[in-house]
Amino acid sequence: MSSSSVQSKVFDPAALLLYTGKLARVKSLSWRAICCYLGFHPLDFSVSVWPRLYSCCNCRNHVSLHDDIISKAFQGRHGRAFLFSHAMNVVVGAKEDRHLLTGLHTVADIHCSDCREVLGWKYERAYEASQKYKEGKFIFEKSKIVKEDW
Ligand SMILES: [Zn+2]
Repeated sequence: MSSSSVQSKVFDPAALLLYTGKLARVKSLSWRAICCYLGFHPLDFSVSVWPRLYSCCNCRNHVSLHDDIISKAFQGRHGRAFLFSHAMNVVVGAKEDRHLLTGLHTVADIHCSDCREVLGWKYERAYEASQKYKEGKFIFEKSKIVKEDW
C-alpha cells in the first residue's frame, strides 16, 4: 500500500461517520461493508484514517471513538465504564445532582439518539477541585457499547 493511494482517498471523517452511522442502522452493514457500498475499498485507507468506533449495543448507532477515551478505570451503574472526551449521536437528558464514589456531581444521562437506550452519563459539573477534569466529559457503560468491527 503506497501512501499516495491513501492520499488520493482523503475525505472528511466527521461527515463520513455521520453518513456511515446512518447506513449501519438502516442497512445493518458493518463498517467495512459500508466502505465497499460507498465505493471505497477498506484497504485503500491507512489504519490511522480508520476510526475505531464504539456503537450502541442496541441499534449499532455510532456513539464514540476509541481515540477519545480518557480513562477505562471508571465504575458505571452496571460495572465497568469508560470516560470519553467526546460523544456523538447521543441525547443529553435532564441534569441532576448525584453522589458518586468521588463526591457530588451534576450529571445528565446520555441516551442513544436513535433507540433512546441509556448508555451512560455526562458530567456537567464537579464540585471537588480534583474532579473538575471530568466536566463536559462522557461516561459510557462498557456493557452498553460495542466495538464496531475492529
Ligand atoms: Zn441505540
